[in-house]
Amino acid sequence: MTEINGKIVSAALKDKIAQEVKENGYTPGLAVIIVGDDPASRVYVNNKKKACAYCGFYSEEYALAADTTQQELIALVEKLNQDDRIDGILCQLPLPAHLDEKAVIEAISPAKDVDAFCEADVGKVMIGNYTFSPCTPAGVMELLQYYNIDVSGKNAVVIGRSNIVGKPMAMLLLHADATVTLCHSKTKNLKEICRSADILVSAVGKIDAVTADMVKDGAVVIDVGINRNAQGKLQGDVDFESVKQKASYITPVPGGVGPMTIAVLMQNTLTAYKANKKIK
Ligand code: NAD
Repeated sequence: MTEINGKIVSAALKDKIAQEVKENGYTPGLAVIIVGDDPASRVYVNNKKKACAYCGFYSEEYALAADTTQQELIALVEKLNQDDRIDGILCQLPLPAHLDEKAVIEAISPAKDVDAFCEADVGKVMIGNYTFSPCTPAGVMELLQYYNIDVSGKNAVVIGRSNIVGKPMAMLLLHADATVTLCHSKTKNLKEICRSADILVSAVGKIDAVTADMVKDGAVVIDVGINRNAQGKLQGDVDFESVKQKASYITPVPGGVGPMTIAVLMQNTLTAYKANKKIK
């Protein structure tokens, strides 16, 4: 069994980005908006700012009060849409309940939608012709590629059908010629379907959503889930200790998929910068 190391792979990707930025004197700019004081969102935003500094990007943080109105938030997004120093705009989700997430995402200029959450970007991922990669699923594909894990013709099972993880994950695996099954909370015979997987990706958000009896011997197991256990520690969806006895490759949590999501976000911001500045 090989434990996939997302820290090493993400560092390699960020180093490549940092080198390109330095050699060419690029100044990609990312604006991160956070509304309210959700502790998990604060950690994610801090990590994104750190990654910007690492890659030599310009970054701005807008920490808004939890009672910020929809109008105020949209006005900020529109101001950033016009700001030449800013190539990517990211609004950390989830937003407080009184705000309309969909409207905020759609207010971000498609040229600066580095999270690839807007409807146009999601549609492009389905077609397979996209500028911005869906960060988490593309991060998973980077991991598979780095470890020379062949996807073509393999049975891939994805658990979870969200617009930001499960669905685009299924699409990227399909574009890489896997035969893909997309499972969700209403799926019948989940265990049997998972046992058919050569590559099993869990994006559920529940501890022990994937146990050893759901995993075929030699399967590649990718854990996207981020949960807090009873001790307050980060834990994935996969019962790591028992599943690693059967898997050929497995991602840990933390240190697996998480760092890749941020590295792809940096890559998207560099892509946005080059497109905005018309650099080939
Ligand atoms: P979500 O809540 O939008 O979707 C969860 C999906 O799991 C749903 O489609 C649902 O149908 C399915 N599901 C729920 N219970 C199930 C069950 N018992 N059996 C089968 N399917 C079930 O969540 P999301 O935004 O897609 O995120 C999923 C997980 O991934 C969360 O833990 C989230 O924190 C994590 N996440 C991690 C990263 C990262 O960078 N590593 C990025 C985004 C999300």
